[in-house]
Amino acid sequence: MILLAPNLYRLSPGLQPLWFLEDGKLAEMGAGNAVHDASLGKEIVRRINELGAISEDPEKLTRIYLSKELRTAAELILGWMREAGMSAHLDAVGNVCGRYEGERPGAACLMLGSHYDTVRDAGKWDGPLGVITAISCVADLNRRGKRLPFAVEVIGFADEEGVRFASTLLGSRAVAGTFDESVLNTRDRDGVSMRDALVTFGLDPDHIGAAARARRELLAYLELHIEQGPVLEAASLPVGVVTAIAGATRLAARLTGMAGHAGTVPMALRRDALTGAAECIGAIEQFCRTDESGLVGTVGYIQARPGATNVIPGEVSFTIDMRAPTDMHRKRAVADIVRQIEAIAKRRQLSLQLDVTHENRTAPCAPWLKEQIAQAIAAEGFAAFELPSGAGHDGMAMIDIADVGMIFVRCRGGISHHPDEHVELADADAGARVLLRVVENFRPREDR
Ligand SMILES: [Zn+2]
Repeated sequence: MILLAPNLYRLSPGLQPLWFLEDGKLAEMGAGNAVHDASLGKEIVRRINELGAISEDPEKLTRIYLSKELRTAAELILGWMREAGMSAHLDAVGNVCGRYEGERPGAACLMLGSHYDTVRDAGKWDGPLGVITAISCVADLNRRGKRLPFAVEVIGFADEEGVRFASTLLGSRAVAGTFDESVLNTRDRDGVSMRDALVTFGLDPDHIGAAARARRELLAYLELHIEQGPVLEAASLPVGVVTAIAGATRLAARLTGMAGHAGTVPMALRRDALTGAAECIGAIEQFCRTDESGLVGTVGYIQARPGATNVIPGEVSFTIDMRAPTDMHRKRAVADIVRQIEAIAKRRQLSLQLDVTHENRTAPCAPWLKEQIAQAIAAEGFAAFELPSGAGHDGMAMIDIADVGMIFVRCRGGISHHPDEHVELADADAGARVLLRVVENFRPREDR
């Protein structure tokens, strides 16, 4: 074999593909003009499929918090962690935790993670991709006998989706020390309390506090996750730098007019709550469409009463979900929309009840971590493209004890929470190479 210098070579002008030498091997350059044999990607896809087969329903993937299947999945992941050279254990809330020591034992860690629970009838990638990719990166360090000046920990959160107890981020909240103990008394749809479910899983509900970590133990929290949206696909990029996990405000609206006979009440004398709601919904869409800050608004639920073909709707309930990359944008938008809805109700002589049912603050990704992620992406030969996360992630809880960074990986059609959720092997591999580069070149914040 002809030995090439460790820099870029074009075999001859205009001839593709490009090649160059890395670790003494001639390697083909991929779409991102970087060397790889996709070995990380292959291992990740194999494990995604293996983990994705662990489901309470043989027909579709469902793996909810504290289920028998979650336990089976935990054992599989703990095994992969140990194989990758980590010490591994299940923590007090059911999170899987692995630790790869640094040059000095007991050093603070760079924590990598995501979640390993799923929604009902889920895809295989949402959550597990981040956990499995992190393990593959550590395994790669371990194979090369490489230790870093800090420890690397991998965590798989046991509950992010909140399917079973209708409360999200239970795993990461326990780690961040913000777990709300009142959730222990909530019951699932079969009447089983979280307290009892923990006992059945083999955990002690009175010791959840033991899962909490201190800020000084963590240098940063980094999560790789599928985008769950179509933006990277539209930009033809396999990975992106997340700028912030958008906060959300949810409202419940109720408009009350007057029910009446669909044949006898003239149009001018009606107080139709449903046409009023329709105007509100149109106004919300119009408002969000004309905003350029990344604001999104959704009315996902509506009910009209009495709900009959020949009756003018007298009362309508609907929900509003508003998200934006900054709290300021979102709050301003919610205030504007509330004003518009109030005006519509007044003009139509409808009474309005509007309640905020949920408020989640935005979790901005730390600029110093965004920069290190962008450098790694550029080093892999891709444009470092920034985008916000419209969906919630564990970083929203982890931000209470660590600076947070996130890498998004392109998923087909932006589809998630659905069996059609899919990531190409090349993209899984690109994500892993970016994460590995971030880990190997990681520089803690200067004031640490
Ligand atoms: Zn997720």
